[in-house]
Amino acid sequence: MTLPFPARLLYAAALSFGLLAGAVPAVANDAVPAPSPSATAAPLAPAEQEPTAAPETAPTAPSKAPEAHVGGESTASTSEEPATEPAPTSAAQDDVTSFVPDLNWNPLDDPNSNARYGEHFAQPVTPMKAASPLATDGSMGTAAIGPRTGDFKVTLVTVQLSGKTVADTDAINMTAARNSITSASAYWKSVSDNRLSMTKVNEYRHVSAARITDSYGTIMATVTRELNWQYRPYEALVIFVPHADLNYNGSWGILGGGFTDSATSGRVIMPYPSALTNNVVTHEFGHVLGLHHANSLACSNGRFDVARSGASWADTACYSSEYGDTTDLMGFAQISSPVINAFMWEYGGFGRGDEIRNLGDASGSVQHVLRPWAGTEPGRAVKFTDPVSKEVYYLEHRAPVGYDAATAKNGNQGVKITKKDILGWSGNASVVLTPNSKVSGYNNPNLTWQAGQTFTTHSGTKVRVDSVDGASARVTVTAPGASASNGSAEIAAVAARTSGLGAATSGVVCGLVNGGCFQDYSGGAVIWSPATGAHASLNGGIRSTWKNTGYETGPLGYPTGAQVCGIRDGGCYQNFQGGAILWSPATGAHISTNGAIRTAYQGSGFENGPLGYPTGSQVCGIRGGGCYQNYQRGAILWSASTGAQISPNGPIRTTYAANGYENGGLGYPTGPQICGITANGCYQDFQGGAIHWTAATGAHATGGEIRRAWARTGFETGNLGFPTSAETCGLINGGCSQNFQGGAIHWTPTTGAHATVGDIRRTWASTGYQNGTLGYPTGPETCGIRGGGCFQNYQHGAILWSPATGAQISPTGPIRTAYQATGFEAGNLGYPTGPQTCGIKNNGCYQNFQGGAITWNPTAGAHPTGGEIRRTWASTGYENGRLGYPTTNETCTTTTTTTRCTQTFDGGTITWTPTTGATIQYT
Ligand SMILES: [Zn+2]
Repeated sequence: MTLPFPARLLYAAALSFGLLAGAVPAVANDAVPAPSPSATAAPLAPAEQEPTAAPETAPTAPSKAPEAHVGGESTASTSEEPATEPAPTSAAQDDVTSFVPDLNWNPLDDPNSNARYGEHFAQPVTPMKAASPLATDGSMGTAAIGPRTGDFKVTLVTVQLSGKTVADTDAINMTAARNSITSASAYWKSVSDNRLSMTKVNEYRHVSAARITDSYGTIMATVTRELNWQYRPYEALVIFVPHADLNYNGSWGILGGGFTDSATSGRVIMPYPSALTNNVVTHEFGHVLGLHHANSLACSNGRFDVARSGASWADTACYSSEYGDTTDLMGFAQISSPVINAFMWEYGGFGRGDEIRNLGDASGSVQHVLRPWAGTEPGRAVKFTDPVSKEVYYLEHRAPVGYDAATAKNGNQGVKITKKDILGWSGNASVVLTPNSKVSGYNNPNLTWQAGQTFTTHSGTKVRVDSVDGASARVTVTAPGASASNGSAEIAAVAARTSGLGAATSGVVCGLVNGGCFQDYSGGAVIWSPATGAHASLNGGIRSTWKNTGYETGPLGYPTGAQVCGIRDGGCYQNFQGGAILWSPATGAHISTNGAIRTAYQGSGFENGPLGYPTGSQVCGIRGGGCYQNYQRGAILWSASTGAQISPNGPIRTTYAANGYENGGLGYPTGPQICGITANGCYQDFQGGAIHWTAATGAHATGGEIRRAWARTGFETGNLGFPTSAETCGLINGGCSQNFQGGAIHWTPTTGAHATVGDIRRTWASTGYQNGTLGYPTGPETCGIRGGGCFQNYQHGAILWSPATGAQISPTGPIRTAYQATGFEAGNLGYPTGPQTCGIKNNGCYQNFQGGAITWNPTAGAHPTGGEIRRTWASTGYENGRLGYPTTNETCTTTTTTTRCTQTFDGGTITWTPTTGATIQYT
């Protein structure tokens, strides 16, 4: 799909407005008398039922006759929109028949789209009210359009254009189309204090004679006429056309159009829904509500403000860049829906009416505080009248909140200054006055004024931006000829309302850092700066502490509020640019510096929280570049990797102290202290482990391999429970251990860390723990083996436990090797039923098992015996009889007829078959 490249469509737009301003089109369809009630339904019938050319009933006068204007403006017979049906065309001029709409399609990002160059047009059907109170005649203070209340009844129509197919219309995403009306309604409801809204009440499909090659206004006029849709208060028509964009006189790239009648009724035309549709439809409803565009003053000579000269700017180097206020819904703002500016707000009678303070004629030098314009505070913006030019200027604080969240960033966060533009059809366009007017149009990313900058009107009134932050902006407006404020009036006002200051002991002294001034009093001082205003500093602990930091030249800077007393335990505090000073009788005065520690302190409730008052200053330069501050009931520790964490007084903090605080193995806390775990316990995590506490066990730290072994058992919810001691090191072979409610964990460099619990642990204990014959455990206790048994391996053997046999030791050695050859407990021998016993005949040893025994001596080796052969051997007196020790294992051979088993001993052989039983052959 290729679209003709428009030649500076921006100017084409301006031209079209010029035409319209001179000859407002009495659109042909708007002159069609309203049908009788019985015929009213016809235009809104299904699309297949084309409206007939003339209503059957006699025409009656419309309740509101758009064509009946004074001043002859309506007599212009427009050539913009044809009065007759479009000539039938056999060959559709548009070759686009298979466009697949993509809701994610952003025309602004599509190199093949012209949308980046052109946006949309707005056309008034009737002129707006002639007298704007914002005209330069000095009248002001009243909205051009009075506050309105109403729910616009919206008729949503999808159109099948001439030469287009049903499939093209089917491709209109109706969900997106409906959502755009909902989205517009939410926006206008928000800015109208819930008085204005839009509700879709009808939805139709319509086959039209209009062609996609018609200008968008012609399409709208044709469809309106075909539908016999009429302007009525609080009614609107929204049509969606099956094409990627619309055109004006052959220039494509138009994303929507809006028409209005007396700002209480109107029409909107849209192409296929795209990623921009919600914002564009919201913008077009701005036109329906009577607003024109939010533009930007562009001056090639860099001037910030120029006078009006009739319908032009007095300086030919300047022009109004249409749509150039890119942070306004009525500007080039398809990618979001920023709040309309204060000029538009007032023009359209939006809001509650208390949002914009009227300063009247600027006089003297006065500071004003602005609050975020997209917020809700009353008096958040101001307007003043230049005493010389009588032009009205609007000052807003643009911050990224609410509908401004996407746009009020970087150079567009700050103080925005607007006034009435030369464009528009009835004083209903705004122009933003920027600090870099040489950069015009859509490319100017710095529409707001920043702290330290001063805007001067063309008549000499100065607006100095004193400060800007996320919550407020301070501006000082100074009339021509007045000297900039030195705060004298504010200092006097503060002194008058502050008890305890006493008499002035100096005049107002200026020249402080950042343009500040002060005046001394017997009970303290009042300090003023452009950024902070004037505040008293009363003699006492807080002022002494501020003094010790270097007053306003120190890290605290200027006070930002009065001293506030009567807080917890009879304390006081005062806020400063760089933090606060808190004082109480018990703690004295200490600084709470802005930053992560103060934020954490705030999160805990300041002095009302568990920490109470600070007992010292913030101390930095500790381990890893960290900081801490102590409080009455704990401390806050901060490091770059852990952030600020609270260490409240109590047993966990005591144990933390015993471990050397952040310098110990635990390092910095990584989270808050958390209570309410098992057994009403508490814990806190640290870089190097954790500390767990219960009333029964006390507070103990865990870390390293032992902590990891504990974790494998399920921490305090596992069979080990809570730690009952600190980790102890220096054990045999460099080992360490830690005791827990259910056992212990032992670690060495070669064996790792393993827990011991229960009967197996008790049996290990009977050997002398790690100092005994088994040494350290080399693995965890493993359960779920034969018969519900468990085992645990040690350096020198294993302990096997079963319900039937209890825990028995299998020491490393030939008997255990022979036991292993039988498959341990899974083999014929089952579990050991007693310890290995030595000192029998010929330096032998044996161990009994559920299925027999294993006997060993140095010459015979270790061999198990069991079953009938063992019973026969027993009958001879075991190793003490004539057979002596077994010298082989039992071996069996099986044929098709029988099984034969034999085992050889020192003194003979025992043979067993099923038929003969066991028989002895002595040698
Ligand atoms: Zn527009």
